[in-house]
Amino acid sequence: MTASHLTPALPVSDMDSALAALRSRGLRISAARRLVLESLLAADSPVTAEQIADGLGGRLPRSDLASVYRNLDTLEEIGLVRHVHLGHGPGRYALASAGEREYLVCDRCGVLRAVEPRELDGVRAQLRAAFGFEARFEHFPIVGLCANCRD
Ligand SMILES: [Zn+2]
Ligand SMILES: [Zn+2]
Repeated sequence: MTASHLTPALPVSDMDSALAALRSRGLRISAARRLVLESLLAADSPVTAEQIADGLGGRLPRSDLASVYRNLDTLEEIGLVRHVHLGHGPGRYALASAGEREYLVCDRCGVLRAVEPRELDGVRAQLRAAFGFEARFEHFPIVGLCANCRD
């Protein structure tokens, strides 16, 4: 998935609106696809495909990893899902919730902080002024040290 971040986000907040979005695009609602959505709704931070296949550590039924990846790709193509890269690990997936999120990640302890894009608009404005560069931090977060690790 490379162009998926150019797909407009399709914010959904519950299973009914997610399923309605699938139906409106003529996409089949398979049990596997529904389970991926359930996992994303249940997770409180972005999760890996492995965690979804693992049923979020036993909270949900387990599923086949390859099918989880395929379904995440499909959901991402229509804008329901976004992924973010944290360091060297696999991508982590989240629903494109109401409002986009950008991320800060600690290089030492791995803590991930989601922020609203407007909170980073000052940084964006400085980068634009200095380099003519329009920075986005939703796909690759800002990496550095969190307040705890900095001290
Ligand atoms: Zn830290
Ligand atoms: Zn990516």
